[in-house]
Formats: sequence, C-alpha cells, structure tokens
Amino acid sequence: MATNLTICGICDFRQTTRASAVWCSECDEGLCQKCTEHHSISKATRGHCTVSIDKYKKLPPTILEITQTCKCHSEKFQIYCNKHDCPCCKKCIVDTHNECKDLIDIDDVLKEVKSSNAFVDIECNLTEISENIKRIRKNKRKCRVGNKND
Ligand SMILES: [Zn+2]
Ligand SMILES: [Zn+2]
Ligand SMILES: [Zn+2]
Ligand SMILES: [Zn+2]
Repeated sequence: MATNLTICGICDFRQTTRASAVWCSECDEGLCQKCTEHHSISKATRGHCTVSIDKYKKLPPTILEITQTCKCHSEKFQIYCNKHDCPCCKKCIVDTHNECKDLIDIDDVLKEVKSSNAFVDIECNLTEISENIKRIRKNKRKCRVGNKND
C-alpha cells in the first residue's frame, strides 16, 4: 500500500523512512538501496522488473498507469480500453467494459512504447540486475541504482 513513490515501501512497513532508489511495478512500491538488493536476490521477487525512481518519474503518465496494479481489484492491468482511455484488469473488463469493443492487449501497448528510450529500462534484464548487485556490493558507499544516466 505504498502511496509515496519516493519512500521505500518495505522500510516504511518497518517504520523506517528511507528514500527509494528503484520502483518495482510488480510489488507496486518503491525500494531503497538495501531492499533492492534483497528484492533482486529473493526467490519471490527476483524476476520483478524494476526501474530507477528518476527514470520512473520521467515515464509518460500512460505508461505509469499501465505498469501499475488496478486499485479497485488489486489485479494487474491486462487490457487497455480505448473508449474510456484507461487500463483495465480482468475484473474491470467484466464489471465496466463488457460492452467496449476497442480493447487492446496491454502487451501490445507496451510493445509500441518500448521503442521509445524512456521505456527501455523498465524491461526485465536479469543479467543487468545481477551485474548491478555486484557493482553495488563493491561500491557500497555511494551507490546508485541503474547506470550512469545516459
Ligand atoms: Zn528499504
Ligand atoms: Zn517487486
Ligand atoms: Zn480492476
Ligand atoms: Zn471501456
């Protein structure tokens, strides 16, 4: 239930306030440097796509929206409704968009956007993640997640 992008959701849960370094769209919360490391190793979460907070903030609002989870149903968005101009989860479609014909698979929407640079980083790249962990470990003092910007 992270409401703040810039605060690590895991630490917040433990009543500690830490600035988040990356955003995980699957956990739907920000993660600080320490939690990111754990997040990338832990079996349950290591396949998650994360993106640095700075880059995440720069993504177009539509992308931010569709990479999130449906607030009403806590399900992943799967379809984008062109008529209502909003992303929908499976349950939204049944509830509200039953009659809508102009529905696109979110994956197709993402494919289109993926060609734009802003989105490249949100793609899962496990090799890169593990490289990052190695780097973070070596360079623990002033570590930043993600590569040097541009
Ligand atoms: Zn944390
Ligand atoms: Zn995650
Ligand atoms: Zn929904
Ligand atoms: Zn609709």
